[in-house]
Amino acid sequence: MIIVLKPNTSKEQLILFKASLEEKYNVTVNTWVGVESTVLGLIGDTTQIDEDWISAQEIVESVKRVQEPYKKANRKFHPDNTVIELPTGQKIGDGNLCIMAGPCSVESEEQINYVAERVKSAGAAFLRGGAFKPRTSPYSFQGLKSEGLDLLKGARKATGLPIVTEIMSSAHIDMFEGIDIIQVGARNMQNFELLKQLGKIDKPILLKRGLANTIEEWIMSAEYIMAGGNNKVILCERGIRTYETATRNTLDLSAVPVVKKLCHLPVIVDPSHATGKSWLVEQMSLAAVAAGADGLMIEVHNDPKHALSDGAQSLTPDKFDEVARKVFALKKAYDEIMSNG
Ligand code: PEP
Ligand code: MN
Repeated sequence: MIIVLKPNTSKEQLILFKASLEEKYNVTVNTWVGVESTVLGLIGDTTQIDEDWISAQEIVESVKRVQEPYKKANRKFHPDNTVIELPTGQKIGDGNLCIMAGPCSVESEEQINYVAERVKSAGAAFLRGGAFKPRTSPYSFQGLKSEGLDLLKGARKATGLPIVTEIMSSAHIDMFEGIDIIQVGARNMQNFELLKQLGKIDKPILLKRGLANTIEEWIMSAEYIMAGGNNKVILCERGIRTYETATRNTLDLSAVPVVKKLCHLPVIVDPSHATGKSWLVEQMSLAAVAAGADGLMIEVHNDPKHALSDGAQSLTPDKFDEVARKVFALKKAYDEIMSNG
């Protein structure tokens, strides 16, 4: 349930009203204070709430029930875009295009440091790299695990780029203490126990869309993290399973504006996993910018032919330079076009 308050409501009136709602109906009240109005989002069992009583209150402008099963992630509860800010100052969702780039897997110190330097000089704001790898085959390279996390931290020290890396088990959360953004991969999007644990920490979570999940299920997974108290969730569209076999997955670009309409969290696009083909990454990155994405996650490898995972979809550093140049140029043009109405 959403209650919009009248613009002249005082702070004291707001506090009293919130307290009366919490006491009377045993619900949690989320407050969003905007320039024009204040919105109260009620979470819990709202079936017993008397809408007429609420409408009758002097400070209430309007009241409506929310149909969607997600509340904290719902844009109706929080009309402004959420901007996620790292302690190191980087922002995601503030209108700038945020690029996260790096290899699928961390393979060695030389590899990760070299790729980190290259993606940084091309304009990436974050270094990505997998240390725990969710591979389809148990016989494939599974990642360097904690050594990989240490190598990522070393690359961060050398370049200053904050790091993004995937967690596969809630038993590993302590190991991820020094990581800047924790990624939940597509295969774990509905690992609800993991999501609940990530809701208890104060760190941004990059939540990839599941291989075969609807937009609503994806937002509900964000809701799991937020319900625990962690509101720093970034959504990542990375392609979904369809009957098409020409590409590894089918990039659902319309998911970007759809999610942004329904939800206030930043949305980024991963054209690498979405297509599985390095030659498609440039065009799909540009298309993602035009779809309104807040950022991109792109796989870049020093030697894609010999990569231990996902070489076929990885860009060389030289190609990444070119792609980054083009996407930043398109973003500039896009912002101009959009601001001119
Ligand atoms: C990855 O980012 O390397 C990865 C495994 O992604 P996804 O979960 O989207 O397959
Ligand atoms: Mn990969």
